Amino acid sequence: MTKAAIIGAGIGGIATAVRLAVKGYDVTVLEANHTFGGKMHEFWLGKYRFDAGPSLFTLPHLVDELFTLAGRNPSDYFRYTRLDPITHYFWPDGSHVKACADAEKFAQEAEQQLGVPKRAVQEALQKSARLYKGTANTFLQKSLHRLNTYLSPDVLKALGCLSDLGLTTTMHEANANQFSDPRFVQLLDRFATYNGSDPYQAPGTLNIIPHLEHNIGAFYPEGGIYAIAASLVKLAEELGVEFRYNEQVERIITQQNNVTGVETIKGRYAADVVVSNMDVVPTYRRLLPDQPAPEKTLQQPRSSSALIFYWGVRKVFPQLHVHNIFFSQDYKSEFEHIFKYKTVSPDPTIYVNITSKADPADAPAGGENWFVMVNVPHNQGQDWQQLTAETRQAVLQKLKHMLRTDVEALIEEEQVLDPLLIESRTSSFGGALYGSSSNNKMAAFLRHPNFSSKIKGLYFCGGSVHPGGGIPLCLLSAKIVGELTPAVAPSPAKSPK
Ligand code: FAD
Repeated sequence: MTKAAIIGAGIGGIATAVRLAVKGYDVTVLEANHTFGGKMHEFWLGKYRFDAGPSLFTLPHLVDELFTLAGRNPSDYFRYTRLDPITHYFWPDGSHVKACADAEKFAQEAEQQLGVPKRAVQEALQKSARLYKGTANTFLQKSLHRLNTYLSPDVLKALGCLSDLGLTTTMHEANANQFSDPRFVQLLDRFATYNGSDPYQAPGTLNIIPHLEHNIGAFYPEGGIYAIAASLVKLAEELGVEFRYNEQVERIITQQNNVTGVETIKGRYAADVVVSNMDVVPTYRRLLPDQPAPEKTLQQPRSSSALIFYWGVRKVFPQLHVHNIFFSQDYKSEFEHIFKYKTVSPDPTIYVNITSKADPADAPAGGENWFVMVNVPHNQGQDWQQLTAETRQAVLQKLKHMLRTDVEALIEEEQVLDPLLIESRTSSFGGALYGSSSNNKMAAFLRHPNFSSKIKGLYFCGGSVHPGGGIPLCLLSAKIVGELTPAVAPSPAKSPK
């Protein structure tokens, strides 16, 4: 029986477990925490439910695909609806744009509210679609570290997009060249934060992201984002995957450059294949201390992290939706605070996610569950207690001004998440949300591959390796690992239940 040990039950680890089980591996997932999900977990504060980490869900077909692969009907396990509107954007000057799911209506709204030519918005979204279609197969769905990727016809397609790719301009420059309204530029620049990057440094290539949200759609899963992890764990267990919780892996065992298993705080597990879903930096530093580490890769600048205030709010705000953004006055300065000065801007852009808008059961009647997030640098020894206190005040002041309501007086439940907690709960290096940032044009090639070129049988999935962070990319990392691992005959002992 070919055994696979997966280190970590984050979304990447769970999806890899499904793929390897379907391939016929005998799969054990070893998870340090008492439950699955990693960053994607949920909790309750009194009568308010919260998704702790990710809140925006795109490319749901990547989840469906796992159920189909296992011969199941996806909707028997996992259901979701398309959000409309997607996001409600607010600016300090009092203007606002409701980004409707229909791209045409969104363009119309941008024209009405901001005076941005409708045609230009449509063209920007069409360009984003062209870029995505031309490049995704090469840059996101395959290993960039295998020769045969470059021999495929998809590369020719990607090369055809080269001039459009915006490798010579930053994302901000590309957007500012296209639009004169600084508010609409800010709206487009914000997509850089979807992988924890800075639009003033990241290449124009990141302008493929709006396509995911505006042309394909943003979705809300029944039961919240946590339902993605929960439904896939159910599937994995049906396929015979064993999840062992409270079982931190301490070492990856190798013999003559072959992986032979892992050692946890409770014992040893022999394995022919080991997949690390742990952040790649601590994987090398803690689990492979005797192996030479790929220092250049590990030292790539980290993505941003987040400060999150989970608030149970005793009021319903009809002007808000599931996703809401309250922009800062000076976006450039905000990113300089994060990436240059490694601190938090005194006027941060505030993201408020309210899942009770989609599922009223997430909050008591007359209340809302607010997930209030500010982008911050990853942990480099800052005084997070002080930064949290200062940011909380700045956020409350800004919301009071922009919503004309004293939100502080309405908070009846509260919890905070900072980069230190993100790091301690998931082992993400510095509490970075998305592994390394995309703040330079070679970033895609500098992420760690999904396999080890030194240790046979060792693979990597999750947000800190290729193709990057965020739910869809973590699912794609699992897909790539599923393709790279050797085929095995189905195991009779672990046939589906
Ligand atoms: P992780 O979630 O990082 O989990 C790794 C798992 O490995 C953990 O369970 C950990 O306990 C376990 N582990 C680590 N070390 C060991 C060990 N030695 N032994 C055993 N187990 C170990 N993405 C989006 O797509 N949309 C969003 O809106 C979004 N917003 C976000 C907001 C926040 C606040 C955060 C934190 C993240 C957000 N993300 C978002 C990013 C997204 O959550 C992550 O990219 C993704 O969930 C990471 O999954 P992963 O597979 O890398 O594993």
